[in-house]
Amino acid sequence: MAHRSVKVAVIGAGVSGLIAAKELQEQGHTVVIFEKNNRVGGTWVYDPKTDSDPLSIEPTREIIHSSLYQSLRTNLPRQVMGFLDYPFGKRESGDPRSFPGHEEVVRFLEDFAGEFGIYGLTRFETEVVKVERKGKEKGKGKEWVVESRLTRGSDSVSHEVFEAVVVCSGHFVEPKLGVVPGIENWRRFQMHSHNYRVPHSFKDQVVILIGLGPSSFDISRDIAHVAKELHVATKPNPLLKDINFQTVANISFHSLIEYVHEDGLVTFEDGFSTYADAIIHCTGYKYHIPFLETNGIVTIEDNRVGPLYKHVFPPSLAPCLSFIGLTYRETIFNVIELQAKWVARVLSGKILLPTEEEMTESVQKLYQFIEENALPKRHTHSLRPFQADYKQWLVAEIGLPPLEDWRENMLMACFKNFVEMKEMYRDEWDDNYWDSIIQSGSSFEEE
Ligand code: FAD
Repeated sequence: MAHRSVKVAVIGAGVSGLIAAKELQEQGHTVVIFEKNNRVGGTWVYDPKTDSDPLSIEPTREIIHSSLYQSLRTNLPRQVMGFLDYPFGKRESGDPRSFPGHEEVVRFLEDFAGEFGIYGLTRFETEVVKVERKGKEKGKGKEWVVESRLTRGSDSVSHEVFEAVVVCSGHFVEPKLGVVPGIENWRRFQMHSHNYRVPHSFKDQVVILIGLGPSSFDISRDIAHVAKELHVATKPNPLLKDINFQTVANISFHSLIEYVHEDGLVTFEDGFSTYADAIIHCTGYKYHIPFLETNGIVTIEDNRVGPLYKHVFPPSLAPCLSFIGLTYRETIFNVIELQAKWVARVLSGKILLPTEEEMTESVQKLYQFIEENALPKRHTHSLRPFQADYKQWLVAEIGLPPLEDWRENMLMACFKNFVEMKEMYRDEWDDNYWDSIIQSGSSFEEE
């Protein structure tokens, strides 16, 4: 099969952009990475600054990319936070913990970028403002024009033509807010977790936190150490009645909020009420790709980016446009790496995609499955519970041997810890046990 080598624009130098660049380069493509920040790492680069609007709804606000809080440690152990080709090992003088802090992850990504020559490919402080097909009006354009501007110093924009674009711009930046009756009357402080960094400003306050995802779990405990009381508003969950945190006693769980009142009174559906000083919305994020113009071919509806074959290629624009890192609820680094290997090989012609019709049919099948099983459309890109099948499909497509069982077993053990809200799960993780499982290749035994 003839080998193709193309000029590719990679948008973003986070985990997805870095691994995409490595894989594309290894397949002989010419790669330019556009990165609006001044360093690699994406979300993992902690920024003490926050959006100028704490709720992040004001369209003209100054936007900070990273949603990390200062105390953040990984929620997966390092064995599944590295790449198949470049493991996340412990370093001398680094953070030795199995679930390290965010600085350790950035250092790992910086080492990766250095090792694979990524810095030389990256245009830092360069924001992509528009990506559109060249000659799209004639309906035959296969090339893409990338319009970018420097984030500092100059207002001028540059245009450059590429044969392919890989979107790696992340999706934990644009906050999603839930419906909270009466919130328009709320005069006290409120923020989205995207803008939470440190707990000090909540000292001695009564704080309401909405949502029960991984960020809510961490932030609730972070704040409870300094706050007077912390109340979590969440959907009914039978597990919560048994939760007793070991390090904080002032967290209580409630049903959803019934109403928030102008004078600071918050009433909950379970009958509980309290006067509160602040509300923090830990309600997740929306996909947002403002620079992409595809004449309506790729849309974002109810948090579904589509149509995308296997969450990566839009059938009618494949393989020249692709998306890496849209999926979640899995071992993100591993999936991103596999998606990147697939994209790089498809672009070089080593792997053939199905026809446009076949890819469209595959997407329709997924949508139908979601509908028939009453799964929320907004979670189209959640891989759970199909993450193992998805990864093994990618691995087979790329021509790698199947992934070892321990990877999936480790992920399931982590999911169990999250669901049971084991407060100290990071420090109670049994590295020796897992090392023996990995070394022996034996399967894991559930307690
Ligand atoms: P990002 O890391 O968001 O990188 C995107 C990059 O694109 C950024 O550098 C950004 O500046 C750049 N960019 C965006 N738009 C443009 C533009 N227009 N022009 C130029 N550059 C642009 N995952 C785990 O595996 N384990 C964890 O423990 C974990 N914890 C998390 C905790 C939090 C609070 C959050 C928000 C996420 C967490 N994640 C975790 C998920 C995390 O997002 C992924 O691990 C990974 O960082 C995603 O990488 P990415 O490259 O796809 O996106």
